Amino acid sequence: MHLFNLKDDSDTVNFCEAVQKGLGKNQGLYFPKDIAPLSNVEELLAQPFTQRSSAILSHLIGDDIPAETLAQLVENAFNFPAPLAQVKDNVYCLELFHGPTLAFKDFGGRFMAQVLSYLTKDNKNPITILTATSGDTGAAVAHAFHGIENINVVILYPKGKISTLQEKLFSTLGGNIHTVAVESDFDACQQLVKAAFDDPEVRDGLHLNSANSINISRLLAQVCYYFEAFSQIPQDERSEVVFSVPSGNFGNLTAGMIAKALGLPIKRFIASTNANDTVPRYWASGEWSPKPTVATMSNAMDVSQPNNWPRIEALFEYGYLDKAILSAEAVDEEYTQVAMRQLMKDGYVSEPHAAIAYKSLKRNLTETEVGVFLGTAHPAKFKETVENVLGQPISLPQPLAECAGKETLSANKDASYESLKAHLFELLK
Ligand SMILES: *Cc1c(COP(=O)(O)O)cnc(C)c1O
Repeated sequence: MHLFNLKDDSDTVNFCEAVQKGLGKNQGLYFPKDIAPLSNVEELLAQPFTQRSSAILSHLIGDDIPAETLAQLVENAFNFPAPLAQVKDNVYCLELFHGPTLAFKDFGGRFMAQVLSYLTKDNKNPITILTATSGDTGAAVAHAFHGIENINVVILYPKGKISTLQEKLFSTLGGNIHTVAVESDFDACQQLVKAAFDDPEVRDGLHLNSANSINISRLLAQVCYYFEAFSQIPQDERSEVVFSVPSGNFGNLTAGMIAKALGLPIKRFIASTNANDTVPRYWASGEWSPKPTVATMSNAMDVSQPNNWPRIEALFEYGYLDKAILSAEAVDEEYTQVAMRQLMKDGYVSEPHAAIAYKSLKRNLTETEVGVFLGTAHPAKFKETVENVLGQPISLPQPLAECAGKETLSANKDASYESLKAHLFELLK
């Protein structure tokens, strides 16, 4: 697989290099030079999840990883299902929350951990994964890498802006997993990560690698579950399928659009955001004007400068997709709650992120279309919010119950780069 830097097309890499570098020069994102359509989509749809996923990833990645090795990495990473739940006649939820940290980020996080552990197994020096999380990336990355030799993980998150349970899920592991609570918001955490990658002393000294949704391995892993969704839709309902994707950094949507570019016959996409509506406003006006990030119930989507957006632009610019296949819609706090209650009436308990995607489907779906909204997190991950909105208790699934009683091991830091840098060297020198 050949990739180039969207900010400098002379910066080219293969898949393994792109995974290890994360970002290219000038913080540019890597993008595939060629996305060749699959010739056997129908045949693939009939295969079991991991077998089909290996075939798709092998098609994309090419000889950078031997097919048999790749198949093993996929088996290790995707060791839980992605069921499609029917919510109404023409509406389904793709439940992506049956992994160890109960959110879709387990797919990308676990595949990336497998690939990196394969690529660095003979390294002399350990690498450092440095990543910012607005909630779920942290947990997925922490669990995916916990106990993997030769890899240290440092996770930054906005202090007090994620749920206690979410925090416990990644800050109680210890070992090679280090967590830092930053006195600011998620965008500030992302800026700190960017600053560290721009600082050669830190980048090279600690062999930095990023693991957030910009890493190409995470994105490719996520392509696979759009095929999985399709495979579970009854044959006679597959002609007008619309995906509604609850979006923050827009990695999930990018992956879906790559699936379409590969030939999966998705009709169109709805990018669903909360009040952090940079993309819906841009899609309506043509003007890119991010506002300060606001805190919402769907806090994993509290992002006003989505870092994967340039890849979506590239999919249009390089002619893989037509702009008409995308619409964008913001759902405010009130309607997020309305949607959660509507879903409960239909017998489906959901959390704010998925509810936003459901709401914009309801607003947009035509009579002949079939809608799939992505269930990006287990409702119990947002227990307090869900219980408040729905007025009924929900129980904790096992992974959450286990860490709920443990103590947080995070360090507290202000949002200055100097304090982060000092902390990193103290932890890892
Ligand atoms: C990360 C996250 C999102 C947003 O995904 P992006 O790929 O960043 O757009 C949505 N819902 C939940 C629960 C998440 O954790």
